[in-house]
Amino acid sequence: MSQMTGFKCLACAREHRPGDAAYVCPACGGNLDVLYDYERVGARLTKAGLAADRELTIWRYRALLPIADSSPVPPLAVGWTPLYDCPRLAAEFGVQQLLLKDDGRNPTASFKDRPSALVVVKAREAGASVVTTASSGNAGSALAGMCAGVGLRSVIFVPETTPAAKIAQLQVYGATVILVDGSYEDACELCLAAAERYGWYQRTTGYNPYTAEGKKTAALEIAEQLHWQAPDRVLVGVGDGNIIGGLWKGFTDLRRLGWLDRVPRMVAVQAEGAAPIVDAIDGDGVIRPVAAETVADGIRVGEPRDGARAVRAVRESGGAGVKVSDAEIVAAIGRLARATGVFAEPGAAAAFAGFVKMCEGGAVGADERVVIVITGNGLKDVETARRAAPAPLRVESPQMMPIEQIVAGLKA
Ligand SMILES: *Cc1c(COP(=O)(O)O)cnc(C)c1O
Ligand SMILES: [Zn+2]
Repeated sequence: MSQMTGFKCLACAREHRPGDAAYVCPACGGNLDVLYDYERVGARLTKAGLAADRELTIWRYRALLPIADSSPVPPLAVGWTPLYDCPRLAAEFGVQQLLLKDDGRNPTASFKDRPSALVVVKAREAGASVVTTASSGNAGSALAGMCAGVGLRSVIFVPETTPAAKIAQLQVYGATVILVDGSYEDACELCLAAAERYGWYQRTTGYNPYTAEGKKTAALEIAEQLHWQAPDRVLVGVGDGNIIGGLWKGFTDLRRLGWLDRVPRMVAVQAEGAAPIVDAIDGDGVIRPVAAETVADGIRVGEPRDGARAVRAVRESGGAGVKVSDAEIVAAIGRLARATGVFAEPGAAAAFAGFVKMCEGGAVGADERVVIVITGNGLKDVETARRAAPAPLRVESPQMMPIEQIVAGLKA
């Protein structure tokens, strides 16, 4: 793990050596940022080397990840997801280019495969036999899938309100599933207590310092897919704040390496009923917990566990926070799917809803290249998706009904 040199606390700014912190800051309990020797990284990772590399997963960036050279990685192919150019949507909204980073294409169908794959490597480095996480759904299914791939046991704490598909994933991957009759915050408290008591390796977002490093791989991919140029703006749905913080880390790592001279503005999109991070961005930067209420389970977080990292990403990048209503999120699922063929789950469609809202408010320039990160696949929550589309035509007695009569019933 020679390229990783240590940690820096986001709260007290103290630095720690790799062996001196397992999860959070030993001095103050704050969340940690991973530090690297960028000269060493730059000597091992080159643009030409990447261009020739046929490892089309997150592991192509191994020299910029906090793992040992000899560590085995999980077999499921995580990352290198498509970056779709959407010229018709770009024209409709009057921007130069609109791109979708479709992370619903990952093995367990969400962005969370990136951090979970990396955490599984760290868990095995630590000699763990059980890995645990609290989750609003996707982090759990991703961890369960990655653990299944390598034969590790997983114990997943999720709120009972988690969509059925995500719970089904946990079950089929063989995780020990603990359904909590409470909020995501309740699930986090139970998981942290259990891990401490039984010595399980802890993946929970905003506690494990490596999740943001796994998440940054999406930014590395976006830059490489754009031939080492940064987009002007990146929008993403925000719950705990770890994805947006991780993406920002990826772009700033590339700036440190001298591979990007510009970095994008980061836009945090939250649901109106769960927007403590956007409120902090628009206010004094301090996170104040709320009772979260939104249809989008992936971003239903009232007490964000990585809020400071998210606020820093938005402020340092000159970005913004945007709130969208549940109605706007549901409408965005249908509009995005019809316009592009990309089916997003609510927490992912929220980012597109945020883009629509920013464009309507004139906040996006006509010369901009915009990336929207699609953090999860629409099949994760079909119940909500079906609210985004008209009901199909129903044929009651198919044997009796002439086809002309059926088709005549179709208005459009
Ligand atoms: C987890 C998740 C998010 C938000 O990520 P945070 O790190 O919690 O901000 C957004 N969309 C989906 C689909 C997610 O699962
Ligand atoms: Zn600290």
